Amino acid sequence: MSFPKLLSPLPLNGGLVTLKNRVLMGSMHSGLESGSVTGGFVDLSRMGRFFARRARGGVGLIVTGGVAPNRAGWVSPFAAKMSTADEMRSHKVVTEMVGEADEECKIAMQILHSGRYGYHPLAVGPSAVKSPIGWFTPKALSSQEVHSTIDDYVNASLLAQEAGYHGVEIMGSEGYLINQFIAKRTNFRDDEWGGSYENRIRLATEIVRKVREATNPDFIIIFRLSMLDLVKGGSSWDEIVQLGKAIEAAGASIINTGIGWHEARIPTIATSVPRKGFTWVTAKMKGEVDIPLCTTNRINMPHVAEQVLQDQEADMVSMARPFLADPDFVNKALANKADEINTCIGCNQACLDHTFKGITASCLVNPESCHEDEFEKAYETVADGKRQRIAVVGAGPAGLAFSTTAARRGHNVTVFEQSSEIGGQFNMAKKIPGKEEFYETIRYFNKQLEKHDVDLQLNSRASVESLAEGGFDSVVLATGISPRTPDIPGIDHPNVLSYIDVLRDEKPVGKSVAIIGAGGIGFDVGEFLSHDKSDGIADNMNIDDYLNHWGVDKTMSQAGGLFDEDDSGARPLTSLRDITLLQRKKGKLGAGLGKTTGWIHRSQLKKMGVKMVGGVSYDKIDEDGNLHITYSVKSKSKSKDGKPSKVSEVLKVDNIVTCAGQLPLRELEEGLQARGMTVFRVGGAEEAGELDAKKAIDMATRLAIRVEDSKAGDVHVMDEGRAAKAIDFMRGILRG
Ligand code: NAP
Ligand code: SF4
Repeated sequence: MSFPKLLSPLPLNGGLVTLKNRVLMGSMHSGLESGSVTGGFVDLSRMGRFFARRARGGVGLIVTGGVAPNRAGWVSPFAAKMSTADEMRSHKVVTEMVGEADEECKIAMQILHSGRYGYHPLAVGPSAVKSPIGWFTPKALSSQEVHSTIDDYVNASLLAQEAGYHGVEIMGSEGYLINQFIAKRTNFRDDEWGGSYENRIRLATEIVRKVREATNPDFIIIFRLSMLDLVKGGSSWDEIVQLGKAIEAAGASIINTGIGWHEARIPTIATSVPRKGFTWVTAKMKGEVDIPLCTTNRINMPHVAEQVLQDQEADMVSMARPFLADPDFVNKALANKADEINTCIGCNQACLDHTFKGITASCLVNPESCHEDEFEKAYETVADGKRQRIAVVGAGPAGLAFSTTAARRGHNVTVFEQSSEIGGQFNMAKKIPGKEEFYETIRYFNKQLEKHDVDLQLNSRASVESLAEGGFDSVVLATGISPRTPDIPGIDHPNVLSYIDVLRDEKPVGKSVAIIGAGGIGFDVGEFLSHDKSDGIADNMNIDDYLNHWGVDKTMSQAGGLFDEDDSGARPLTSLRDITLLQRKKGKLGAGLGKTTGWIHRSQLKKMGVKMVGGVSYDKIDEDGNLHITYSVKSKSKSKDGKPSKVSEVLKVDNIVTCAGQLPLRELEEGLQARGMTVFRVGGAEEAGELDAKKAIDMATRLAIRVEDSKAGDVHVMDEGRAAKAIDFMRGILRG
């Protein structure tokens, strides 16, 4: 067996219960926890289907998304809660479906009280201190209310047990209620729940102690303990050890690791975080407690998890997003087929970004995730009479997603790719330092093409004639995009390069650079040109460099684990080049980047010393290749007409790189239609503006599961708009 430690059983509760392996599917909000209301009853069958699929895939222990123990603990209005018999009954479908899928798989319900992170006016906390990322100042709980909150945790645990869960995870990290009581940052009380550390951890230990007393001896209690707060006013290492020991004494079965509060400004799970970048924190706790320790964050392949366990940094490994990307992760590891795993690339685009927008989660590399009911046809073999010969033009993300899914269903698929390798835009993305995970996606698709006998024709430029003569039933245009050339006088100067020249063709770039366009690609180019080069292997990203760059003190000499701002311990990397990133829109640059990652890209480039200017107009590029721009500046002395002063500036640069968006490439379409062929467009060929890999893969996969029943030109997309608009509307009302 290739992963002997990871796949070995783990006894808990003194041997009363055993996990079949050391893989914990970590909790994450998917949007399925609230279910849908039918006839006054909350239907959680979508959540059940989602977890059952993961149980069938071999995971040992599942932890659900957060469920509040009472209304005040809601994450947002009417979020999931477990406090009534009706709510208990609605969860039975989840535990039953998981049990039917694999009776050995264990499932625990996470109890999450959001405290001051609650996006609703009923939010409470240890003290009335508003969070920097919250909307409401929480009401400080009275001592009596703290007692009743503990009772609510016990009640939720008993209901979870009755609903068939094998345990609960008590969420004590990430800056939620229990963590808020523990940290001086948010706890200003002077009663028995505040002041000394012993008082501040009392809520945590009382909850665990009382849940242990109330539940069956084999009931699993996981406590998620914030081992590195990454905020000022967090716990010191000695305090964290004291808490770990107290939680063990109170009767927990497993201590899971929590890294960073939600309000911390240190990336902890994004793709730029090195693999296993925080397992050293759990390793520090080893030997301090005897119950199993679970580690987490940016562990996305079995060999990484196995290494962590072999190095004795932890006893088990939690992975959440990797199970969105591939529900069969564990079974593939068991079958020695890790090269078939669809790897989570840490982009957050379809999981966390969706959750923050109020949309059901999905996965960029696996659109089926959390939408299992919509993708059932993906596993049905196409009926004999409907099997087609399909030509796919282009082996970028959309072409690959279409061809591998359609071929798996039994269609006969030929892919024409004009370059010598598959991957399209992913081949540029993988070169961006911190985005090396895209190598894995390309590896995955290569394997799938081979596995499903897709006829891959590399170095092959399809023409209307070749496609018309090929005897295909339909043609899928996945030809992608061409970069937009902005209309600026002098744009054809030889010092002007497109992002494709820079990223794909690696043309030489001088020491000073202006980047036109600050969307996802402008930021990527800024990152690429700031560094020397990506080393291309996600495993080799240097953890210590990363921690130093972001000011994380591995010795944890300061409470919270951060260097002081003026501490020489923090050593941010600086850019190799003098870079200016520009956009015409006013306001912050990169506003359209992902909700949970945009701030990382912005602060990363800022740390590297990249200048960012918005609200510019591009006047011209002169004969020396310098860029002339005009922009407004805020100054006390406004110009005569009362408007902000305009400044003209000449950026003396060696190169200008254009990252000004995209136009669709559809050159074959008309010719094919004129010959009466059935043509579909997917990815950039269908929609270039605002297109990203998430939409491209989703759209292509949805076509692939029904192509035989689709009419020429049909486009199938995820309906994410309505839910998001409803949430925005509701947030508007609440804010008002
Ligand atoms: P984009 O995000 O639409 O950005 C295009 C940029 O070009 C904007 O900053 C726009 O700003 C500028 N622009 C547009 N028309 C222009 C013109 N005529 N002249 C000068 N500037 C112009 O497109 P992208 O950067 O090409 O990215 C493509 C897609 O991939 C996007 O959906 C993006 O989100 C996604 N992507 C995401 C990431 C990520 O990290 N999340 C990374 C790469 C790509 P102004 O109009 O204000 O000048
Ligand atoms: Fe991972 Fe991105 Fe999928 Fe989220 S959307 S699970 S981060 S690959």
